[in-house]
Amino acid sequence: MSGNHKLDLLNNSISYFREAVACAQAEAPQTSPWKFAIVHVVQAMELAFKERLRRVHPVLIFESVDRAEKTVTLLGALARLRNPRIGNVAISDEEKASIEKAVKLRNELTHFEFDYSHEHIELKFAEIFSFMIFFYRAHLDLETSDFIDEEQHQQILLLVRARAELIQRAKLYIESRGNITRWICPNCNETTFIVEDQQCCVCHHKEEIVECPNCGVENFESDLKDISHLFDYDDDEGLMRLVEDFGFGDTGCGECYPEVREKIENARRERYYEDLEMEDYYAGKLYGA
Ligand SMILES: [Zn+2]
Ligand SMILES: [Zn+2]
Repeated sequence: MSGNHKLDLLNNSISYFREAVACAQAEAPQTSPWKFAIVHVVQAMELAFKERLRRVHPVLIFESVDRAEKTVTLLGALARLRNPRIGNVAISDEEKASIEKAVKLRNELTHFEFDYSHEHIELKFAEIFSFMIFFYRAHLDLETSDFIDEEQHQQILLLVRARAELIQRAKLYIESRGNITRWICPNCNETTFIVEDQQCCVCHHKEEIVECPNCGVENFESDLKDISHLFDYDDDEGLMRLVEDFGFGDTGCGECYPEVREKIENARRERYYEDLEMEDYYAGKLYGA
C-alpha cells in the first residue's frame, strides 16, 4: 500500500500543481479560472505535505496513527511538518499564516458564492505558488523542471514580481501620505491597511474600525467577538432570558476578553457570598437565633 501512496501523492500533487498553473495562465478577465487555480494549488500543497510526512513515516499521513483510515487534514499535516520532533521542516509563522489564509480562501471558494476581486485571488495564488516551488525543491528534492515548464515558470514569476511591485507601489503611496496609521491587513497579511481610510492599499480590502465597547481600543470590526455567553441567563421554558450582563457590552476585543471574564467571575462570586449572608440573616430572623 505504501508503494502506491508514494506514487499517488507526489504525482498527484504535481498534476494538481500543473493544473493550477494552467488556470493561472488562462488570462481570462473573470474570476473563475483564478478560483480553480487556488483550489488546485492548495490541493497540490496538501498532497505535497502528505508526501513529505510519508517520507518521515508512512503512518503519518493518517489523521489517527492508530486507525489508519482517514488521512490527515492540510492544517494537521502542516502542524506535524513544523513539529521539531516529527517533520522538523522550517516553515515560518508568516508562511503558516499565509497557508492558513489560502486554505480558508479555498474553502470559501468551494463552498460559498464569493465576492473577492480577481486581484485578491491572484495575490493569494502568487504567495502559495512561490511557497510551493520552494517546498518542492527544498523539501521534496525536485528540480524545477520536474513540476513546471520553463516558459510557464517565467510567466508566473512575472506574476509574482507584479505582486512585489504592487506592494512596492503601495509602500510609496503610504510614504506620500505621511503621518498615517497602518495595520496588518486581515485579508492580504501586508502592513498596508490604512486605518484612516478603513481600507488596504494593496488588496483594497475594506473594513470598519470600531472601538471595543468594553475597553475602547480600536479594532477591526471582525476582531470583536461575542462575549454574551459570559452573562447570566434564566431558562424561561427553554427561552434563555438575560438576567445580568455585569455592565458589559455584547462584544469585546481579544485584548480585554480575559480581563472581562475575570471581572465577571469575581462579581458572580461576590454576589454568591452576599446571597449566602442574606440567607444566614433571614434564617437567623426566622428561627430567632
Ligand atoms: Zn490587504
Ligand atoms: Zn476591549
